[in-house]
Amino acid sequence: MLGLMQDRPLMISSLIDHAATFHPETEIVVRTVEGPVHRTHYREVQRRAKRVANAMQSLGVTPGQRVGTLAWNTHRHLELYYGVSGTGAVLHTVNPRLFPEQIDYIVNHAEDQVLFFDISFAPLVAQLAPSLRTVHTYVAMTDRAHMPVLDLPRLLCYEELIAAESEDFTWPVFDERTASSLCYTSGTTGNPKGVLYSHRSTVLHSLMECAPDTFNVHSGMTLLLAVPMFHANAWGMPYSAAMAGAKLVMPGPKLDGHSLYELMRDEKVTFSQAVPTVWLMQFQYFDAHPEIDTLALGLQRIGVGGAATPRSMIERFERDFGADFVQGWGMTETSPIGVIGNLLPKHRHLPKEAQTTVKMKQGRGVWGVELKIVDEQGLRLPHDGTAFGHLHVRGPWIANGYFKGEGGTVLDAEGYFPTGDVATVDADGYVQLVDRAKDVIKSGGEWISSIDLENAANAHPAVAEAAVIGVPHPQWQERPLLVVVRRPGLEVTAAELRLFLSERVAKWWLPDDVVFVESLPHTATGKLLKTRLREQFKGYVPM
Ligand code: ADP
Repeated sequence: MLGLMQDRPLMISSLIDHAATFHPETEIVVRTVEGPVHRTHYREVQRRAKRVANAMQSLGVTPGQRVGTLAWNTHRHLELYYGVSGTGAVLHTVNPRLFPEQIDYIVNHAEDQVLFFDISFAPLVAQLAPSLRTVHTYVAMTDRAHMPVLDLPRLLCYEELIAAESEDFTWPVFDERTASSLCYTSGTTGNPKGVLYSHRSTVLHSLMECAPDTFNVHSGMTLLLAVPMFHANAWGMPYSAAMAGAKLVMPGPKLDGHSLYELMRDEKVTFSQAVPTVWLMQFQYFDAHPEIDTLALGLQRIGVGGAATPRSMIERFERDFGADFVQGWGMTETSPIGVIGNLLPKHRHLPKEAQTTVKMKQGRGVWGVELKIVDEQGLRLPHDGTAFGHLHVRGPWIANGYFKGEGGTVLDAEGYFPTGDVATVDADGYVQLVDRAKDVIKSGGEWISSIDLENAANAHPAVAEAAVIGVPHPQWQERPLLVVVRRPGLEVTAAELRLFLSERVAKWWLPDDVVFVESLPHTATGKLLKTRLREQFKGYVPM
């Protein structure tokens, strides 16, 4: 017998409608690509998103077709988030930091019909356009005064395009499983593959992000959106912010320390999220400006994810900013939230240091994500905080497969998605990442966690950034090599670092050698690019 409750499909358009109806004047503050700060609000974003929806029809974009963006975090990008997906078309957010050949591959693979781009990417678009086979219309996301001069088959101006349309539009209601947006993984492993989100997955994921034990997105929050909107839907925040009616602060193209600081100060930001590299840059800025009272900024919460967070970073957030630190783990394929780490009541009475140890774990299971760890044979391992194995996840916002079937069947026999990460899970459900399966160092039949070693090295005051990779070894198969960028003006030797580490990790984990470099390679999303590093040190023979 079925229940007698209404069967309203979960639609992305309902999020912006809700915000426009119940939080119409809540501000969205944007550093525009043209320069000045622009202030708008949810009612205006909804109206303009409806103009975008009408424009989709005028441009001949039909449901299911893909529309690309090469754009920063701005109100126009937000309008496309709602205006494109709201019609049943698919918003394809392209990461402009990828190599041009990868962008070329992605846009052609997705068969984007229209490409919206910020004017800062005009030279890139000019370079790419001749080989983009399916794009029939280019739209520069600006007004007439700032239009770039480009020789393209059909180039339109965003403000003119939407000004010509009515703001009268009734969002269609369709199957909630319909595709809504498309995001390619950044390709640290092989060709980028498309993750195709749905209206249902997006709305459920937003609901989870509003829960107090996760990110607690709510109407009293001022959210600085420092995660790019081309990276896993900016961790879902453009949707959950609308669901909650939270004030949004969007940094546009300026993610440098000073620009983010200005926005935090002027808009009284209470919550922000980013990958650790962005926060490292932010810290460097504050180091250079000791006159800034960071406690007075009023940050309440900081979310970090995408890569492991060093202990020193958590301590600094809490000491210098008075902000509660919360870590999340996930990937493009998990929308992206897989687990989120908040303290449990039993941790509240622990000494600060022990609490930080809990916060260094990647996070706890949230409703909607079932997880398990398995051995090489796929057999389940216990959740005892010690056994480690391959982390597999299942749930309504976890990918089923990749766009156009790339990579074949990806789920295991029980329908779980293998994440490629190796982890432990403890009895409370806290997941601790040991490593990515391909980064773990296999030494003499045992595993060494490159993440743990990096965390330990990052704790040294003279270390700005550390990476650990496995290098081939005749006897042990692989041994760890520590590659370090020193903090400007500070000295440390390899012997000193090894001594420092010997007090923090098992003796047989100690890197055989330490190499100092000027900088480390990063992916387009700011993570250590270990494939490049391994390539760089391929023939390396430890001293
Ligand atoms: P890609 O696979 O293209 O690099 P993703 O952004 O989807 O892109 O990366 C997901 C990966 O990032 C995870 O599989 C995991 O290895 C790593 N990761 C995510 N969050 C954390 C975290 N909190 N701590 C450590 N690693 C993390």
